[in-house]
Amino acid sequence: MKKIIIAQHYGFCMGVKRAIAITEETMAGEDKVTILNEIVHNEAIVEKFRREGVGQAVSVDEIAGGTVIISAHGASPEIFHRAEARGLKVIDATCPLVIRIHKIVKKLAQNGYRVLHFGDGKHDETIGIVGHAPERVTVISGLDELQALPPFSGKLAMTSQTTARVSDFVEMEAAAKEKFPQIEIFNTICNATNQRQAAIMDLAPKVDIMLVVGSESSANSKRLAQISRAICGLAYLINTADDIKPEWFKNSPKEINVVGLSAGASTPDFLIEGAIERLRAIAQSDVEVIYPQKRDLQNRLALKDEDDC
Ligand code: SF4
Repeated sequence: MKKIIIAQHYGFCMGVKRAIAITEETMAGEDKVTILNEIVHNEAIVEKFRREGVGQAVSVDEIAGGTVIISAHGASPEIFHRAEARGLKVIDATCPLVIRIHKIVKKLAQNGYRVLHFGDGKHDETIGIVGHAPERVTVISGLDELQALPPFSGKLAMTSQTTARVSDFVEMEAAAKEKFPQIEIFNTICNATNQRQAAIMDLAPKVDIMLVVGSESSANSKRLAQISRAICGLAYLINTADDIKPEWFKNSPKEINVVGLSAGASTPDFLIEGAIERLRAIAQSDVEVIYPQKRDLQNRLALKDEDDC
């Protein structure tokens, strides 16, 4: 291993930074704080807040009192009402780009549209979006489900999960237009997702192996690993540096000289730094680390967020 190249865009996005900041502010001002679902989909962040005394719940019905924080992925209006009915103080850390989809879906529903939402029906974000117009939104996760829909000639629109694979959405859009020529398309994939996917597509052809730091629960991290695997053939999703195995480099079918490194939108920088250190230890020699635009990680932390909408 001679070189580690870090993707041009990687790691924390605007919505994740914001949700973490809101949680920290809330902890400083309130006694009993509980986060509904994972604040962001990263085990290290979830564990950090748990260690600091923040409660975790998967339903508002489990929360006995105090303050509940709605995660970056958002929730349906019904959850807000149920929390308020239980006397909980509600702090909303939903990413503004998810709120934008809530507004689009609600407005479309009020104007008589049916909405096809391209996403994972079990993901917190999708559940929250559907909850804004449950009778009007149908979740589709792929082309098969689109093709299986019955004919429909009424007002129809399509939206997307913020973290969908861009090329999948392009395919879905083309197929949806063919099947339902009247359909109106709202590409609601967020800017952070677009940037990270474009950066990994640019980097993957230049490396022998790609490592993506992110949790299994993180849809956008998994997507980055899938995209790079399809391009460079060898890619792993790693939760922490400890998951990096020396045999990936020593027993690899191809010689590994250049390692690509990226991270999902909910991965903190210390996990990426940890991965670099582990790679250096495995290499047991000098490894050049190429940072995006010649910036190091510390400088990057001080820069203005590039992922704002
Ligand atoms: S991935 Fe996109 S939608 Fe999700 S929190 Fe980050 S900026 Fe917001």
